[in-house]
Amino acid sequence: MSQSAPLVLRLLAASVPAAARAGKIIKDVMSGGELAIVQKNKRNLFAKLLISPLSSSYFQNIFKGLGRNDLQTEADRSAQRCIIASLSQQFPDVTIIGEEGPSNPSDEVPSDWVVTESEQDILCKQCPSEYISTTAEDIVVWVDPLDGTSEYTQGLLDHVTVLIGIAVNGRAVGGVIHQPYHNYQTKKDVPGRTLWGLVGLGTGGFEVVDPPSDKFIITTTRSHSDGIVVKALEALKPDEILRVGGAGHKVLLLLEGRAHAYVFASKGCKKWDTCAPEAVLEALGGTLTDIHGNHYSYAKDVQYPDAQGIFATAKGVDHKSLVSKIPQELRDAFPN
Ligand code: AMP
Ligand code: MG
Ligand code: MG
Repeated sequence: MSQSAPLVLRLLAASVPAAARAGKIIKDVMSGGELAIVQKNKRNLFAKLLISPLSSSYFQNIFKGLGRNDLQTEADRSAQRCIIASLSQQFPDVTIIGEEGPSNPSDEVPSDWVVTESEQDILCKQCPSEYISTTAEDIVVWVDPLDGTSEYTQGLLDHVTVLIGIAVNGRAVGGVIHQPYHNYQTKKDVPGRTLWGLVGLGTGGFEVVDPPSDKFIITTTRSHSDGIVVKALEALKPDEILRVGGAGHKVLLLLEGRAHAYVFASKGCKKWDTCAPEAVLEALGGTLTDIHGNHYSYAKDVQYPDAQGIFATAKGVDHKSLVSKIPQELRDAFPN
């Protein structure tokens, strides 16, 4: 059955257990207590820290001195190695781009990190006709092995997701969002949950809820705000703003009807942050674009930053009319 299914379906089906395995690695690193944090893009500021996962004030103190804008931990590195080894073993001809950069070929991946199972429920589905003849050259897989690293290091664990996005001919169409710490505060030893979507096929792994009709809720960043981010939110006049970590987590809030829009007028997100969330959201009938209302390209030669910001809306929300409320002077800060 699996070998006869179209490539896009096989890739999506393989990404579900790979993301879940990466989520287990993320939890193991946290419970092991050695996050080995590095500040990315600041080569001289290399900090290897032994961190107790139990002490949140300890985290906060460390981050006062370290800065917390673009961090990488042992969990980010290991989760990416797991996902890339798993997918590239099964799909050697597919281009895979991971946030943490290319892996070192001499770096052996532990055999129990290489997952070759597939989600049978997905393999059994009817592939949308537009992807039946898709070949490896048409596909780019975008991997964010741990979205919400700042929040992970600060103990806000349910903000963390593992993101595997599948782009076909430049469009984000398939995605897996694994949330390793789903319900961790109320239940012990939670396995996490894995949401998936394929445009034209639908979604799985979560309960679809419409957002409330009596108030307008926007979600945005909690750790990467600035004056323009704030001005864009003010222009939309929300009744409530949910400031949470991670692009994956914010799109989860849209999928589950806890917010109407995710707005981030900043160049800070990258293609691996938005490919999987965009695909799952759009598979449900929502929309994710830049702040001008245009879709990003996820082709292999694109620039990594989402340089025109993020504007996403839940199913049933009028995306175009909301985008039109962003003032021109803010849009001018994000030229195409
Ligand atoms: P946030 O909404 O701030 O949690 O960000 C969502 C994703 O975009 C995370 O992976 C962040 O690391 C990334 N991101 C957003 N803004 C920035 C920034 N200014 N610098 C580096 N990464 C960013
Ligand atoms: Mg990310
Ligand atoms: Mg990440």
